[in-house]
Amino acid sequence: MSYTTRVLEDATKKHASEPEFIQAMTEILTTLKPFADARPAYEEMGILERLVEPERIIIFRVPWIDDAGKFRVNLGYRVQFNSAIGPYKGGLRFHPSVSLSIIKFLGFEQIFKNSLTGLPIGGGKGGSDFDPKGKSYREVMSFCQSFMTELYRHVGANTDVPAGDIGVGAREVGFMFGQYKRLTNSFEGVFTGKGLTYGGSLARTEATGYGLVYLTEEMLKNHGKTIEGKTVIISGSGNVAVYAAQKTAQLGGVVVAMSDSNGFIYDANGIDLAAVKEIKEIKRGRISEYKNYRPSSVYTEGRGIWNTKCDIAFPCATQNELSEEDAKALVANGCFAVGEGANMPSTLEATEVFLQNRILFAPGKAANAGGVATSALEMSQNSQRLAWSFDEVDKKLKDIMVNIYAGINEAAKEAGKTDNFVAGANIAGFKKVAEAMMQQGAV
Ligand code: NDP
Repeated sequence: MSYTTRVLEDATKKHASEPEFIQAMTEILTTLKPFADARPAYEEMGILERLVEPERIIIFRVPWIDDAGKFRVNLGYRVQFNSAIGPYKGGLRFHPSVSLSIIKFLGFEQIFKNSLTGLPIGGGKGGSDFDPKGKSYREVMSFCQSFMTELYRHVGANTDVPAGDIGVGAREVGFMFGQYKRLTNSFEGVFTGKGLTYGGSLARTEATGYGLVYLTEEMLKNHGKTIEGKTVIISGSGNVAVYAAQKTAQLGGVVVAMSDSNGFIYDANGIDLAAVKEIKEIKRGRISEYKNYRPSSVYTEGRGIWNTKCDIAFPCATQNELSEEDAKALVANGCFAVGEGANMPSTLEATEVFLQNRILFAPGKAANAGGVATSALEMSQNSQRLAWSFDEVDKKLKDIMVNIYAGINEAAKEAGKTDNFVAGANIAGFKKVAEAMMQQGAV
């Protein structure tokens, strides 16, 4: 049995109760197989065995009191996966579906994504099964302060630098940063995605969505195409989706559908993004309310967005939101490019459909790396005690995305898998981390 197969089989048995983590490992190790098996030094130094085990997992209870005076308790997680190339870096997710498996899959992906950015950041991820939906301002603050009262001892500007993710935006980062500062008496860059008044970076809010579109545009350009004039559908209506939609429109694409966890809207004239932002960012409402702004639009309950005809699809909501059937529907309807804004939104089977049909497919760990890359730029600005202009950060972001595309394109070609950017991203991300781990010995 080959080295990669053995490690995957052993880890799959050992972590049998963690389906999302097994899915992420399967995707990465399967595509790494020819590359890693051909280099005996990896096996000699146990690189893959070490890579699939987090350096540290922290699980803790988060007690808090709701507005009715009732005691509540949630679980908090931080998985510090790999610090070979820099301090752990990765977001915090607050969503009722959060489990150890989900945090481990996100942390594992983060190692390779962060490596692809070319910046010195290791991989980590955290979160809680707390559901911010329907909670008051006071309840969210109370939860965040309690969460940080445990987490503060495990993070720090040179140790582990969390950020936002699903359910964690600028408001929650502010509460957690404030509590960290109060507990440690230290004002340091322990979070990214901070508010602009206390060390946040311009363009961080836009970065993941913008970066996704920059990388996709570069991929299209290399295949004689552009976003201009194309019909685009985007799942989700959160941070990543909104700014992917904004950049798409700036480049002349027409976004005709967006969604949330209840359903999706279709607007043949192009989505009115100001309306979506008002509904989701200000009112914290449901996407179905879009009909009040554009009566000619159509709202459909449920997860049918992938049956909408389009040229380009950007899944930007959550993991496994795009199934094999969805992928087949996209292909049948003439979609020729898919860029993953979310982490692992396509199932393994859906990814296979895209690759078999030679769809230009940009996997999440490359396509959505603009967020964490800009977070690393926020860390640089904090260390320098400087703040760069929006244009400066945006330009750096664009350069990083263009470089990521060049890296994954080259790695795919070298592996004899031209245009297979799944393989390209996994190999390019892995190489640097493996090299650093070998140089640092048995740690
Ligand atoms: P937000 O919380 O801002 O938005 C998430 C969006 O996805 C919302 O529209 C939400 O709908 C929808 N959604 C969430 N869960 C589900 C579900 N189970 N089924 C259907 N829809 C769902 O999160 P982000 O935009 O920050 O993150 C979106 C994705 O992008 C995640 O996979 C995240 O890991 C990834 N990502 C985010 C980065 C960032 O910088 N923010 C960086 C890199 C990746 P509703 O409003 O109904 O909850």
